[in-house]
Amino acid sequence: MAPVPNGHSADVEVHEPKAGGEKSKRMHSQVVIIGSGPAGHTAAIYLARANLEPVLYEGMLANGFAPGGQLTTTTDVENFPGFPDGVTGPEMMDKFRAQSERFGTKIITETIAKVDFSQRPFKYWTEGEEEDAEFMTADTIIIATGASAKRLYLPGEETYWQSGISACAVCDGAVPIFRNKPLAVIGGGDSAAEEATYLTKYASHVYVLVRRNELRASKIMAKRLTNHPKVTVLWNTVATECKGDGDLLNALAIKDIKTGEEEDLAVNGLFYAIGHEPATALVKSQIQLDADGYVLTVPGTAQTSIKGVFAAGDVQDKKYRQAITSAGSGCMAALEAERLIAEEEAEDESIPADKVHVPAQGYLGTDKE
Ligand SMILES: Cc1cc2nc3c(=O)[nH]c(=O)nc-3n(C[C@H](O)[C@H](O)[C@H](O)COP(=O)(O)OP(=O)(O)OC[C@H]3O[C@@H](n4cnc5c(N)ncnc54)[C@H](O)[C@@H]3O)c2cc1C
Repeated sequence: MAPVPNGHSADVEVHEPKAGGEKSKRMHSQVVIIGSGPAGHTAAIYLARANLEPVLYEGMLANGFAPGGQLTTTTDVENFPGFPDGVTGPEMMDKFRAQSERFGTKIITETIAKVDFSQRPFKYWTEGEEEDAEFMTADTIIIATGASAKRLYLPGEETYWQSGISACAVCDGAVPIFRNKPLAVIGGGDSAAEEATYLTKYASHVYVLVRRNELRASKIMAKRLTNHPKVTVLWNTVATECKGDGDLLNALAIKDIKTGEEEDLAVNGLFYAIGHEPATALVKSQIQLDADGYVLTVPGTAQTSIKGVFAAGDVQDKKYRQAITSAGSGCMAALEAERLIAEEEAEDESIPADKVHVPAQGYLGTDKE
């Protein structure tokens, strides 16, 4: 086990993979990015500007998302700095992609289906070629495969998704269709309590639909929620259908699972708060994940449990899950990959000094830990 960088007392054990693996005849890269959301493209922009010629796999409907990631499924993004008038999610991700390409990122519209992190250079295979003897290789890999919000896929949900139904109160709570309107939150854990409390800033009232007769949220969060004058918790209650006028949601059919009683609840918004699924199926047998399946990183860094493999964005973040935090961690992953490559080049005496890649100064501190 290698020492944990930066002196963090992390619960991530960073392992040095075996060296000396063969380089692929097909393609070898210094750095490969898997994923095309804000995290992946931000990493690509930094690495491309550092002349590391990153290769970014944007996926072909990987994890159910088009290239560009979760924001391709939303309309207005109003909280990403630099867009004072807002921007649509797809337009923003087109800009991210164009900026990656401008500096020379090689973007490949394929999904990575298999990886082998047991030795460096790392091996990987694209979808449809998993069984091939030949593989591609990379000195470093950034995992930026994202996550997806769990949904119930109720009747009517497809019609009103993003037209009254959301899975992110912080992203969408302030939009006009929800202002001063009754809203519903589904979920009984901490994030449901947090989302519902957050929505009270904008909503006329918030109904929290809880399947059981108790909340799973922490005591303090549950107390804050149940004491809030704008909140009504509907115990033992499930939603069975999303209803509306064809354009916007205006009611939820709900059912009391104890009495069997059904009614329509007039609400203009439904927020799911039943958890997220990180896109880690690809790497779950290769690196350390937490109990919820998120990639574990050494706190304050993008370093995973395998030296040379970094993670950024929602795939390693169950707390913030925002475009800006994803972009920020993509930047961290890129700078850490760049530094590792530079250190290893410097250690390799066979490389002439003038060919050693020198990372930009000033961003990671001047002293080596
Ligand atoms: C409807 C909606 C609205 C939102 N609104 C906002 C908002 O207004 N503001 C805000 O800050 N945040 C918002 N968010 C949250 C934001 O979208 C996410 O935090 C952010 O997109 C996460 O970025 P990411 O780079 O980690 O991954 P993602 O955006 O999840 O992108 C990951 C990408 O990687 C691809 N991929 C996955 N696996 C593979 C593979 N094996 N090979 C190749 N490619 C792969 C996926 O197809 C996907 O395109 C919203 C989310 C949703 C769902």
